[in-house]
Amino acid sequence: MRDTTLLQLALALTPPWTVSRSDFDPEARRLDIEIDFPSGSRFACPNCGAADCPAYDTERKTWRHLNFFQHQAYLNARVPRVRCDTCGIKTVGVPWARPDSGFTLLFEALVMTMVSAMPVKAVARIVGEHDTRLWRVVHHYVDAARARIDASGVTRIAIDETAARRGQDYISLFVDIDQARVLFATEGKDAETVAAFADDLTKHRGDPEAIEEVCIDMSPAFIKGVGESLPKAAITFDKFHAVKIINDAVEKVRRTEQKSQSLLRGTRYIWLRNPANLSARQRATLERLPTRHLKTARAYQIRLAFQDLYHQPSVQAGADFLKTWYFWATHSRLEPVIDAARTVKRHWHGILRWFDSKIANGLIEGINSLVQAAKAKARGYRSARNLKAMVYLLAGKLDMQLPA
Ligand SMILES: [Zn+2]
Repeated sequence: MRDTTLLQLALALTPPWTVSRSDFDPEARRLDIEIDFPSGSRFACPNCGAADCPAYDTERKTWRHLNFFQHQAYLNARVPRVRCDTCGIKTVGVPWARPDSGFTLLFEALVMTMVSAMPVKAVARIVGEHDTRLWRVVHHYVDAARARIDASGVTRIAIDETAARRGQDYISLFVDIDQARVLFATEGKDAETVAAFADDLTKHRGDPEAIEEVCIDMSPAFIKGVGESLPKAAITFDKFHAVKIINDAVEKVRRTEQKSQSLLRGTRYIWLRNPANLSARQRATLERLPTRHLKTARAYQIRLAFQDLYHQPSVQAGADFLKTWYFWATHSRLEPVIDAARTVKRHWHGILRWFDSKIANGLIEGINSLVQAAKAKARGYRSARNLKAMVYLLAGKLDMQLPA
């Protein structure tokens, strides 16, 4: 068998395409495969499909292909433009590559497989290509897969924001709770992000009016956005966020108090934990503190009590509990705790909504770890667009339909 025949079989070329020659340059560690078609060949019009169009002229192109052992391999061909009676002069598509890509389909499939397992920069180094070329491939396949997503039937959404670059920029994530997938990611954390989500939902057969439940933190921007763009949605305020607000109050009390009570120095993380989760060392530290006299300890008890809200048997019991807690907290004479209690009061309805919806952003914990992985894989990602593509790739449950 001649080497051109072998390569032709290996590349699974179909007529009129044939391998006409191959050049191997061991010094350049490079294999070049020449693909050609017999003169007089006829092609289908890429626009209307009309068969038997004659070649008008050709343009020479090169595509990076899968490595040949340790050597880079390239396909080279003259790509015909055809003269179609209906459409005029059109460039023919080749079966081994997408139009305008400098890579073959198989090379792109390899890149896509690699970028879901390691940072794009690392893939770029391994395959010896610039990462911006690889990002272009990522965007193509992610965009194509996102165009196919079906958001009909989506009724429950969690919205969360994540810091993109060193806390400078934010992207907001819209998670389909029932299918545990990121449906939409966008820059910013304002009300406009919810409008953009509603718009995107409509483009994917979803319906903003069909969204019944939304879980968010207490950010006024998200509250406003949901009110404007998801008009039928009941808001549940994320319980971890509610607890965090009170935790922050405990920490404020501690920071003030440690100025006169130096024993409180270095105890910040003790007060953030529940008693059952303290390490032996933290427990011992706590036992040495004169907790009976400490404002911080009182604030901590109020925080622990707040968490019991979520163990109440019904929404009515929850409402009664919250009233009692609010009275206690607002009479604590601890300014930060009183402020936090007032914040809770202002968001009462959405906090109690949890008893009906039972949704919390903790449900999307698995998604958050995928988003963290996406940030790592998009390291040095140059743009929020790249980060979003990586989030979709890892956490979007997309049907990638990679060439095989
Ligand atoms: Zn045509």
